[in-house]
Amino acid sequence: MFLADSMLALQARNWQVYKLGGREYVSDENVAKFYGFQRFAKEGDNRIFKHPDLVMTWKVGSQSIYVNDVKFNLSFPVVDNGGKAMLSTVDLAKLVDPVLRPSYIKKPINFDTVVIDAGHGAHDSGAIGPFGREKDYALDMALRLEKALKARGFKTLLTRRNDVFLTLGQRVAIANRQKDAIFISVHFNSSGSRDAHGIETYALAPQGTRSTNGGSPWNSLLSGNLRDAENIALATAVHAHVIKDMRSIDRGIKRARFNVLRGINKPAILFEGGFVTNRTEGKLINDPAHRQRIVDSIANAVVKFRTAVGKK
Ligand SMILES: [Zn+2]
Repeated sequence: MFLADSMLALQARNWQVYKLGGREYVSDENVAKFYGFQRFAKEGDNRIFKHPDLVMTWKVGSQSIYVNDVKFNLSFPVVDNGGKAMLSTVDLAKLVDPVLRPSYIKKPINFDTVVIDAGHGAHDSGAIGPFGREKDYALDMALRLEKALKARGFKTLLTRRNDVFLTLGQRVAIANRQKDAIFISVHFNSSGSRDAHGIETYALAPQGTRSTNGGSPWNSLLSGNLRDAENIALATAVHAHVIKDMRSIDRGIKRARFNVLRGINKPAILFEGGFVTNRTEGKLINDPAHRQRIVDSIANAVVKFRTAVGKK
């Protein structure tokens, strides 16, 4: 039973759960009522939920929703049911709820350390663009992020500090040895299409769902890392900050079961800071001042995340 392991179970009587095609859903009206939105409007296929400081929009048939203009990729599309827009209970519990009220996360963690993972290294260059290589940019970002987080009172641990190769298992082992920590893996993107650009942030996909970028069906049998709510809250904090500060193209918050995220016993995200293969974005990424701005934005987001989910 899905809701049983969730904070929402405590309020199960407030939810009417519909079964559609073997999956459980809740209605738009139920969500509007439960979260006390001051305004809820239906405009064709669109649903608009408004608080004074938060606007959430859904669209029937779409696999993304927006919260304050930040795009979130759902595990399952919003479906129509007799004029009601329906959201899966998986997306309700693992995405919408932690995003709308991160302070309700069941077992808040008290972290004082950030494990920073620079992707790739040595013979594994990662993405290669006209101006440089992902492994070098990722390491530079990790070292800058270390400084920025220390300046904000955090402790840090880097999985690598120079151009060496680590397996994903080694990265996970380093992260898991560290107590009271969160984990941020820093990468840059590549695409065969030179037009592809923008920033995306991955959180581990929750149990019972597929990665938003596809993947084989058996993936959905693998378990989440028991940190689903915190993963998405951390991804939200970082992604929203960076998109706003950098005015980058928003490719959304996505779910994936990258090995590096799957084995980790703490809140973990993988940040993709743009496409080195895109001429315009690649040139920006090659600029140290641009990388520093992203890093400052991530560090500010970590401060905000700690305030949101930390022990009161
Ligand atoms: Zn990478």
